[in-house]
Amino acid sequence: MNTSSSLPNPSGQNQNARPALPRIAVLATGGTIAGAAADAADTSGYQAGVVGVDQLLSAVPALSTVARIAPEQVASIDSKDMALPLWTTLAQRINTLLATDDVDGVVVTHGTDTLEETAYLLHLTVKSDKPVVLTAAMRPASALSADGPLNLLNAVTVAAHAAAHGAARGQGVLVAFNNRVHSARDVVKTSTYAVDAFQSPEIGALGWVQDGRVEFQRGVVRPHTLASEFSIDAAWPHVEVVASYAGVSRIAVDALVAAGVRGIVVAGTGNGSIHQSLQQALAEAASRGVAVVRSSRVGSGHLMRNGAAADDALGFVSAGSLNPYKARVLLMLALAAGVTGAAALQKVFDTY
Ligand code: ASP
Repeated sequence: MNTSSSLPNPSGQNQNARPALPRIAVLATGGTIAGAAADAADTSGYQAGVVGVDQLLSAVPALSTVARIAPEQVASIDSKDMALPLWTTLAQRINTLLATDDVDGVVVTHGTDTLEETAYLLHLTVKSDKPVVLTAAMRPASALSADGPLNLLNAVTVAAHAAAHGAARGQGVLVAFNNRVHSARDVVKTSTYAVDAFQSPEIGALGWVQDGRVEFQRGVVRPHTLASEFSIDAAWPHVEVVASYAGVSRIAVDALVAAGVRGIVVAGTGNGSIHQSLQQALAEAASRGVAVVRSSRVGSGHLMRNGAAADDALGFVSAGSLNPYKARVLLMLALAAGVTGAAALQKVFDTY
C-alpha cells in the first residue's frame, strides 16, 4: 500500500482562522471510477482501475473547499476480482486510520460490481463511529459526462458532514452514489450501465447529497460498526453461493460439500423456494454440519422462516432481507466468529 501524501498537521494553524476542515482519508481501490479508455465516447470497453488516486482527486478541485484530503492507493483492481485478503487489508487499514486523531472520516473509491459486498463487510467490521463512505462510477474517468468526479465530491461531502456531527454520523457505512446516500446494508447494484445504478430496494435511500447539502430522511435500525460483534481479524471460512433454477442438479452442492465448504448460501427462486433436487442435497449438507442459508434471487423483498421451505426440519437458516451476496458476507463473519448451528446463525441473521 502506498501513502501518496499525509494529512496536514492542524497544530500549527492560525488560532483565529475559521474551524479547520475535516480530515478525510480517500482510499482508492480501482474500479470504473479509476477507469480509462482511448476514446471519450467509450463507456464499455475501458480498463478499470488504471487511474491513480492523485489524478482522481485533481479532477475535483472543489474537494479542497470541503475537506483536507489524505489520499492512499490501497489497490488498483476491477472490483469483479475483489479477494478476501484485500477485504482484510482494507478493513484493517480503515480501522487503523479511524483510531487516530488525525483522521475524521474515510471515503473509499471502489468498483461498482462488488461494492455492495464490500460496503456491508465494512458496515459490520469497522470499529468506529467516524464516517466511512463508499463511492464509485458507472462511466470511466476518461468518458464524456463521467459520473465519478461528482460522486467523489458528494462522498467526501457526506463524510465531512458526518465528521461535523451531522445526521450522517452513527449511521454505519454509507454509499454515496448519484446524489443519493444509501445504507451499506440495503444498497444493491440494479443496473448494468445506467448512471443511476444503485438502489435500496423497497426501503429506499437514507437521504441525499446535492450541491454541498446533505439531508437524511430515515435512520439505520440494525446494529453495525461499534455495535457489531464481528471483527475483520479472524480467518475467512469457505462459503459459496449456489442458485436454484429450472432443471438445476445437485452436482454443485455435492462438489462443495466434498471440497469441505463451511457454508452455502442458496439464491432461491421467489420467496426462497428451492428445487427439490437441490433442496435434498442442501438438507444432506446441513445434516453434515454445513451452514445452509436460504435467500432469494428476486432482488427485493424478505423471506419468512419456514415459509418456502421447512427450515426447522431441514436445518436451514433464512437470510431475511439480505440478498445472497450480502448473506454470504454475514455468514462468513458469523462462522469466523465461532457461531455455529442453525438456531444461533438464525439469531445473527435476525439481528443484522
Ligand atoms: N467492473 C467494474 C468494477 O467493478 C465496474 C465498475 O466499477 O463500474 O470495478
